[in-house]
Amino acid sequence: VARNPGEVEFHQAVREVLESVEPALARHPEYAEAKIVERICEPERQIIFRVPWEDDRGVVHINRGFRVEFNSALGPYKGGLRFHPSVYLGIVKFLGFEQIFKNALTGMPIGGGKGGSDFDPKGRSDREVMRFCQSFMTELHRHIGETTDVPAGDIGVGGREIGFLFGQYRRITNRYDAGVLTGKGLAYGGAQVRREATGYGCVFFAQEMLRAAGDSLDGKRIVVSGSGNVAIYAIEKVQQLGGVAVACSDSSGYLLDEKGIDVELLKRIKEVERGRLGDYVQSRPHATFVAGGSVWEVPCDVAVPCATQNEISAEDAVTLVKGGCVLVVEGANMPTTPEAVRLFGEAGVRFAPGKAANAGGVAASALEMQQNASRDSWTFLQSEQKLQEIMSDIHARCYATAEEYGMPGNYVAGANIDGFRRVAEAMLAQGLI
Ligand code: NDP
Repeated sequence: VARNPGEVEFHQAVREVLESVEPALARHPEYAEAKIVERICEPERQIIFRVPWEDDRGVVHINRGFRVEFNSALGPYKGGLRFHPSVYLGIVKFLGFEQIFKNALTGMPIGGGKGGSDFDPKGRSDREVMRFCQSFMTELHRHIGETTDVPAGDIGVGGREIGFLFGQYRRITNRYDAGVLTGKGLAYGGAQVRREATGYGCVFFAQEMLRAAGDSLDGKRIVVSGSGNVAIYAIEKVQQLGGVAVACSDSSGYLLDEKGIDVELLKRIKEVERGRLGDYVQSRPHATFVAGGSVWEVPCDVAVPCATQNEISAEDAVTLVKGGCVLVVEGANMPTTPEAVRLFGEAGVRFAPGKAANAGGVAASALEMQQNASRDSWTFLQSEQKLQEIMSDIHARCYATAEEYGMPGNYVAGANIDGFRRVAEAMLAQGLI
């Protein structure tokens, strides 16, 4: 804490991992000898830079850019870029730290990193977003590469932003290194199912958890938070698998549609018109938008938080349990506060941590890297099948590790221990670096 003052989200993420890997540390004294914990908590490299840009009125703005290259024991740094006014070093480090173990859990050769900026794309024109992305990449390009560091999207960074970033990378370097960024458009090196992967993967994970308990998604009432990339495709997959997603949200309130959210309408509003969630009720008057309300007030069987960190407080957890919730699957990174996680445990609510449940996004990014490297492109069906297999493997690994350590059903322990062990073994093998 003294070494990283004020980085509260980073402290929270580190505490959560270290507490649950204690039994693994006890079994592996060689980790302590090689100071694996101390090394894993210190990023290999942290880059902070100035991002100057001009808005449509000619006003100059200065934002701050970040890239934290956290751990490359398993492969090139891999992790998204977040553009949101709340971004500062503590957020980027928490996300980068989580990313190390998430990427390890996928079983794919990718290390952990994360980046972003305190730039707020909301309300900005396409040209303003383009100028910002060009300025951001003008610095970032010297730090990334298909064998060093491969960024992708996150909050505020979707297909549009990745396109602008990739264009500027090509222009500066005069290289068509498709594998330098993932989440690209299908027309220029993107991969099928990358856009859908985090949301779909999360629902595949929920399906595996329910199956392990002799249950299924069929007829389940689902509440999702957020209405961005992860939320939209989680809702789509829920409906395809027989569940009913009745509510979702954004930072201004939540939408309730008892007939089930019309996902095509939601996509049109959010992806095409870049409108607000409240616009939905104009086309579906039976639905309601509750301005300023918390989506966790809506009773459900399954909750899928897909917005941002610490969005489920202890109070929300109590409300969810009272509303009949029996399963929580994190689509976002660290959306559940530690207190809420504890309350879910006490109430017997099954809980999947983001680093396992939302790993589908980065796994599909690794598949995009594979396709770029071999100049190949797979079909939607092939790619979705591969994603489903990966999610099923991650589930099996978390499940088995929790059993191995005498904590059956504890997916937090299973995910943290398995991810940590993989990275620790690679670090040990590679010596003191
Ligand atoms: P988007 O920018 O597409 O959507 C984010 C959604 O969350 C929006 O509806 C937004 O509402 C809401 N939101 C964001 N910040 C806040 C906040 N502070 N308070 C309330 N609502 C908020 O992002 P993604 O869907 O890509 O990411 C969502 C989460 O999933 C993040 O935690 C991200 O780290 C995680 N994730 C994403 C992956 C991906 O592949 N995209 C992969 C793995 C994890 P509004 O528009 O009003 O701001």
